[in-house]
Amino acid sequence: LPPDRRVRYAVVGLGHLALEEIIPALFACKKSKLTALVSDSPEKMQKVARQYGIKAENCYTYQTYDKLKDNMEVDVIYIVLPNSLHKEYVIRGAKAGKHILCEKPMAISAKECEEMIAACNKANVKLMVAYRIQYQPHNRKLRDLVKDKTFGVPKFVEACNSQSSANPAHWRHKIALAGGGALPDIGLYCLNTTRFILGEEPTEVFAYQYSTPGNPLFTEVEELVSWQMRFPSGVIANCSTDYNVHESRRYRVMCDRGWLNMDKAYAYKGQKLTTAKADGKMEKQEEIGLAEINQFGAEMDHFSECILKNKRPFTPGEEGLQDHIIMEAIYKSAKEGKPAKI
Ligand code: NDP
Repeated sequence: LPPDRRVRYAVVGLGHLALEEIIPALFACKKSKLTALVSDSPEKMQKVARQYGIKAENCYTYQTYDKLKDNMEVDVIYIVLPNSLHKEYVIRGAKAGKHILCEKPMAISAKECEEMIAACNKANVKLMVAYRIQYQPHNRKLRDLVKDKTFGVPKFVEACNSQSSANPAHWRHKIALAGGGALPDIGLYCLNTTRFILGEEPTEVFAYQYSTPGNPLFTEVEELVSWQMRFPSGVIANCSTDYNVHESRRYRVMCDRGWLNMDKAYAYKGQKLTTAKADGKMEKQEEIGLAEINQFGAEMDHFSECILKNKRPFTPGEEGLQDHIIMEAIYKSAKEGKPAKI
């Protein structure tokens, strides 16, 4: 592709995330643009196509999806479907010769992730998992401060991502479509972001799991998972996630000469990075203010740049696979009531 050309995206699945965040963000991107839609709802697709100026011939259904192969106006397919459908649509998209951006969680098992990575390698297309936090400035800044040891050596991390859900009929509460409950949907942010900020991989996990008995939200998927991860450097992370409490999305990294705290850590906007540094017997607290950017736009422009310059994405399929390996160990530990090695 000529380096000055925008990379062209087909968005698959016109649900909440696609309509409220991804598609608007594509119009704020510098290197990416929307050229095609895939949906099972013709009226909705027509409305979206009209609103964003997408040609009728660039609108597909899941049945005509494979015909994207012949569409020279699409470079990337962005999968924004329920979790258990990611694998099929990533593999079919790779076979159509398109680069793939896939929403988190990458799939519903580590084995599926391996198949998706293999299919993209075989088709010689790039695969990226949409871990937007890794493209978010406050979280990136915190990671740099940990790496530089600005506050000394990290010792432990506390991370929590919780929200309350209300609709038991939604696919998020059906095991066949979601693959799990709070852990793969929102707990994944604690897991992935902790790995990102520490820059190392856990070797062991220990977990508890709980669901309120009789609550129809949790007949198929779990409500609460709380887990610890041990890292080779000695750092221990305490993480928790729950689908049935008031929203809380934060983490803190405790170091031997201070701490770094992120409020609204995993939110779409409003991150607040606060630090404390030991200063003799005193403590100096400071908020590190940074300009907000659209995380979704930053993430898509990163992938587009990788395509334009033939670079490996920062969060490739292997990053999704690693999280699924760890999540499987977390469920195993909770089930067996003992630590699980990774
Ligand atoms: P929604 O339920 O709002 O949308 C999913 C869309 O997928 C539907 O609107 C529908 O689109 C399509 N679809 C196809 N088959 C089915 C099916 N059997 N059941 C339900 N929907 C189906 O989900 P979200 O937009 O919230 O989530 C989509 C993906 O994005 C998930 O993997 C989720 O984890 C991820 N996500 C990521 C976030 C992030 O911050 N990165 C935030 C929110 C979600 P259509 O009618 O057009 O066919």
